[in-house]
Amino acid sequence: MNSLQNITQLLLAEMPTAITLRCPLSIFSYWKIGGEASVLVEPKSIQQLQQAIKIINQFSDVPSMIVGDSSNLLFSDKGYHGVIIKIGNHLSKIEFSGDQVYCEAGVWVPELAYRSYRNALSGIEHICGIPGRLGGLIYMNGGSNRRGILENVESVQLVNTQGELETIEAKDLVHSYRTSPFQGDERIIAAATLKLNRADRATVRNDMRNILSSRRKKFPRKLPNCGSVFLSNPKMYDIIGPPGFAIEKVGLKGTRLGGAQISELHANFIVNLGSATSQEVLHLIALARKTVYDKTGFKMDCEVRYIAENGVITQAHVIADKL
Ligand SMILES: Cc1cc2nc3c(=O)[nH]c(=O)nc-3n(C[C@H](O)[C@H](O)[C@H](O)COP(=O)(O)OP(=O)(O)OC[C@H]3O[C@@H](n4cnc5c(N)ncnc54)[C@H](O)[C@@H]3O)c2cc1C
Repeated sequence: MNSLQNITQLLLAEMPTAITLRCPLSIFSYWKIGGEASVLVEPKSIQQLQQAIKIINQFSDVPSMIVGDSSNLLFSDKGYHGVIIKIGNHLSKIEFSGDQVYCEAGVWVPELAYRSYRNALSGIEHICGIPGRLGGLIYMNGGSNRRGILENVESVQLVNTQGELETIEAKDLVHSYRTSPFQGDERIIAAATLKLNRADRATVRNDMRNILSSRRKKFPRKLPNCGSVFLSNPKMYDIIGPPGFAIEKVGLKGTRLGGAQISELHANFIVNLGSATSQEVLHLIALARKTVYDKTGFKMDCEVRYIAENGVITQAHVIADKL
């Protein structure tokens, strides 16, 4: 029996209802792209997540990774030859206490925004309209209007590679635009405590409504996509503008390759017209990156991550550059 078969047997024995074998990644990935994952684990509690990690990490030759809603991920058409742990609704406890909120990593980001408003708490209005789970948002230090969720994080509870819990405090969380200390760290975000500010509920609601209505006008909503493909680069922003503007300026808005298209609404989005493959998306990324570089001298890096079938995770432009 090989290592993957061993892991599968152990996981099925320990947590049979949390396991799906040969799961098509296109079912849940936001881009609706991706082949099959050999094994998908959806832990029903933090304890079960710890148990799964203990089993998986006995076998170092099998790739494994953690995902939330895959709203920032491009999976290979060839699938994922290993174990994917998906953190979602089962780990979605939210507890408010004064101006603090404890959230498990599977809390749905729109739900967190809504519950903060209901509790008359301000500080994270900028996450309004962002899909995905809190774990993924913290990992990406996601947000909008040049803000990131880590500005409001007091502490993060992690599961380490031995399956034990660890806590990291805000003072040790060095972060910057879309960068968190968890990128390149094998530990898994299990929960976090956020610190918000008491505020007038109607004001919070108004601010959130304004953010939502501005997003609805700008971003494509009907076709599967993964949000902004390229990161904003402050130098390029000052001289040329944001990535969407630059891609539009070089004439690529609406460019189509097979089932993938640079959105006609917002050029920093690539949409799946129905049958897009990861190869087509990568080719469009390569085209936009090269054309903008040739015409402006600025190289745009990707926010979106590409997941290869052998488990290697990279910013998508790294793979696109090699095509
Ligand atoms: C329409 C649309 C609009 C978007 N708008 C924005 C926006 O305005 N601002 C913004 O910042 N983002 C935006 N995004 C991107 C994305 O929604 C966020 O980055 C989101 O928070 C990612 O959450 P997720 O659960 O989908 O993470 P995933 O895409 O599943 O994972 C992202 C990364 O986080 C890691 N990860 C996930 N969960 C954990 C965990 N528990 N522990 C450790 N690592 C983990 C994964 O391994 C992966 O590397 C948008 C996406 C879409 C589709």
